[in-house]
Amino acid sequence: MTNKTNILIVYTGGTIGMVKDYKTNALKAFDFIQIVEKIPELKQLDCSIDSISFEELIDSSNMNTEYYVQIAELIEVNYEKYDGFVVLTGSDTMSYISSAISFMFENLQKPIIFTGSQLPIGDLRTDAKENLITTIEIAAAKINGRPAVSEVCLYFEYKLYRANRTTKVNAEQFEAFTSLNYPPLAESGVHLNFNEHLIHHQKNPKEKLIIRKKLDTNIVVLKLFPGITETVVAHILSIKNLKGVILETYGAGNAPTKKWFLDLVADTIQKGIHIVNVTQCAGGSVVMGHYETSLALKEIGVINGKDITTESAIAKLMYLLAENLEASTFKMFFESSLRGEIS
Ligand code: ASP
Repeated sequence: MTNKTNILIVYTGGTIGMVKDYKTNALKAFDFIQIVEKIPELKQLDCSIDSISFEELIDSSNMNTEYYVQIAELIEVNYEKYDGFVVLTGSDTMSYISSAISFMFENLQKPIIFTGSQLPIGDLRTDAKENLITTIEIAAAKINGRPAVSEVCLYFEYKLYRANRTTKVNAEQFEAFTSLNYPPLAESGVHLNFNEHLIHHQKNPKEKLIIRKKLDTNIVVLKLFPGITETVVAHILSIKNLKGVILETYGAGNAPTKKWFLDLVADTIQKGIHIVNVTQCAGGSVVMGHYETSLALKEIGVINGKDITTESAIAKLMYLLAENLEASTFKMFFESSLRGEIS
């Protein structure tokens, strides 16, 4: 360890480190050491950088909660040694993974910043270099002697976001992510500008870091669409061992008012299954009771997801379900902001 700021890169896979398989022409994960060699600029940064990789590198489509725990443990065992952490994953599920990590780390006092790229690092037009270099700079940045950010964040194409507010919205452009319900925490232009008033810092620095590794995956996302049938809804809501449902509704949290639909939702809640109302819109909030088409959901006891993203709601549901809370406590926690995920 040096006196410089020490940054640990956790590399899990994703396009950033992929190369083309010469036989199939498909992109596949490659060794990280070779990535670092491709960015000599990293040596110019005023911090010391170490890296650690998953044994088996993965496309983020293969992510699951066991890998989340692996990421959390790699950070846990190195937490004291390093000042900041950069996690490289594929962008496809980066919002899901980073949202989950945000709930898993309670009382976090150091930055954990996710990034990746749309083009591999070896590609001439790659976005990987800027994403990686600026992410490391942000992870190492200090303001008045303390880390500039100490949240779980996602950096992509000149913007730093609170991770649990993000959604991947573009598979083609370098600006792959958005955060419609919360402004960027920092923006990189000629200067690296932190929007300090938007950044959350742990109030009591004495609070110990707690890492929640239990996640319950007995959940489902039920996305409504005009024409959805009773049979489909009934089957989904009667999945064996189901404990939580993200009900993706229209607009400000609206859903059909047909009796069969409301009866199915009410029966499911009666069985002790938590149902959360999350809007299908990328921006804006659920306001239960604003329209007649959401009033009944409120009365039945559906949880208000407010302006949470689906990615974040999935992570929060997995986390809270594993805590075995009583129904009203569960609802109270879900409807409160635990890591800045809702307004
Ligand atoms: N399929 C890749 C992944 O998510 C895409 C990327 O890295 O951007 O792993």
